[in-house]
Amino acid sequence: MMEINKAYLTINQYSRPNIDMGTVKGVVIHWVANPNTRGIANRNYFEGLKVGKKNSKGDYIYGSSHYIVGLEGEVIAPIPETEVAYHASTANKDHIGIEVCHPDWGGKFSDATYQSLIELTADICKRYELDPLTAIIRHYDVTSKDCPRYYVKNPLSWEQLKKDVKGKILLETIDKIKIELNGRVKEVAAVNIQGYNYVKLRDLADDKIEVSYDAERKFPIITAK
Ligand SMILES: [Zn+2]
Repeated sequence: MMEINKAYLTINQYSRPNIDMGTVKGVVIHWVANPNTRGIANRNYFEGLKVGKKNSKGDYIYGSSHYIVGLEGEVIAPIPETEVAYHASTANKDHIGIEVCHPDWGGKFSDATYQSLIELTADICKRYELDPLTAIIRHYDVTSKDCPRYYVKNPLSWEQLKKDVKGKILLETIDKIKIELNGRVKEVAAVNIQGYNYVKLRDLADDKIEVSYDAERKFPIITAK
């Protein structure tokens, strides 16, 4: 289980309304739309809304999410999953909201951020028995808002993100076997088919074996060090 910093907001009408969540039907992914800001800064922004802040049109700002995934992959929880957060209008009552930090206006998530997001989302999908391919949606899918930007502009990357969550869940159901690698016993994931164990090449890497991938020729390279 990953480490989650529970930094719950003060109950208030603008960001933590203390309304019970309905049955969770899905997860909404967002970008914070504020490049290079830290996870905790975004949490503190939600906390600051409690005084009743207004936007340029003079309307009160409502906003929060159940989770924020930061630039180093850290995970903060401003709202418990049992309560409604204000992140995606009509989806708020039955969707968990995740805000994700990003380095620039392109909105692509860094590797560390992405890996944490996949792990967090996989955990949520498992606990609520949701199919990642249909239950994970973008804010864009609810309101047509340009959020999360990179994954609105790059639909294939969005599909891959959902598949990565599904893959993460599948991987945990796969058998673990022990192998001895250069004199050391190691546990690796394996699929057994007709008496043969299929393992990941990457799992064969250690201090004597290097496993890499040639992106140009599109195949793995295994080298004895
Ligand atoms: Zn959003």
